[in-house]
Amino acid sequence: MSARIIDGKAVAARVRAEVAEGVKAFEAEHGRVPGLATILVGEDPASQVYVGGKQKACAEAGIAGFDHRPPGDASHEQIAALIGELNDDAAVNGILLQLPVPDHLDGPALVELIDPGKDVDGLTSRSAGRLIQGAPGLRPCTPSGVIELLDDTGVELEGAQAVVIGRSMLVGKPVALLLQERNATVTMCHSRTRDLPAVARSADVLVVAAGVPRLVTADYVKPGATVIDVGMHRLEDGLCGDVDFGSVAEVAGAITPVPGGVGPMTIAFLLRNTLAAAHAAGALARQN
Ligand code: NAP
Repeated sequence: MSARIIDGKAVAARVRAEVAEGVKAFEAEHGRVPGLATILVGEDPASQVYVGGKQKACAEAGIAGFDHRPPGDASHEQIAALIGELNDDAAVNGILLQLPVPDHLDGPALVELIDPGKDVDGLTSRSAGRLIQGAPGLRPCTPSGVIELLDDTGVELEGAQAVVIGRSMLVGKPVALLLQERNATVTMCHSRTRDLPAVARSADVLVVAAGVPRLVTADYVKPGATVIDVGMHRLEDGLCGDVDFGSVAEVAGAITPVPGGVGPMTIAFLLRNTLAAAHAAGALARQN
């Protein structure tokens, strides 16, 4: 294996420690800590684990957690009313609606009800619009984590050829926009891209978020390229990503493992966004 392994756990731990320091400074200045409200509708076991992890991470960073668990048969109006209350609650700086919601609810419509200033997942159309405009705002967590990992490798993004495989609103599109913000030259690929391996081989920086286990093999990768694998799959032989780690690590210059690469970054940036939202709310309160 020739590639440097990008240690997402270590980078996420550093970000979380920085947030914890920032929370202490915020408390010293404002006399209260930032707050994050999570909403989990129903009892989906995987979502319970994710939300539990987010609440635990909040506690470790000194952020106040507000854990709301409405029943699985809660109506749109009930969840909308809860979001409205949290929007109005000054102790709550971030609101996260755990997705997916039960089938009878419209997840995207509910997300739209979150105050953009508290949209710590960066998923509302207002947040997406601000990202497209290059205006300040809360950026989606996983894509922000991808950029932080790239920065950690020291790879020069300005002028780099970057290829993003996947164009979802959750990952591919925001990653491409964030890379453009950093002056990379970005090509976006998707399921209809012709000769994907050839396009991918043009990349100095290759970000893969296709949702297809081990899609990217060594023949997709330029020697020395930096490869970020966002994919996450639980297969019979264990966890894997969208990148065939074994073969690609022989060719790439640096690569994220799965697990231990992008995964830990998402929660770290949820905490960072909550602190940023608290600071922005504090600045707004001082103006008024
Ligand atoms: P998604 O909504 O299913 O989007 C997948 C994208 O990949 C689509 O744009 C699709 O193209 C493209 N694609 C699918 N098959 C392809 C192929 N054979 N060749 C080229 N492009 C292909 O998935 P997502 O939400 O972006 O998630 C992607 C992966 O990241 C998943 O494995 C997910 O579990 C993982 N993920 C991890 C984290 C984390 O914290 N680590 C967070 C979010 C997601 P079309 O648009 O043409 O359909």
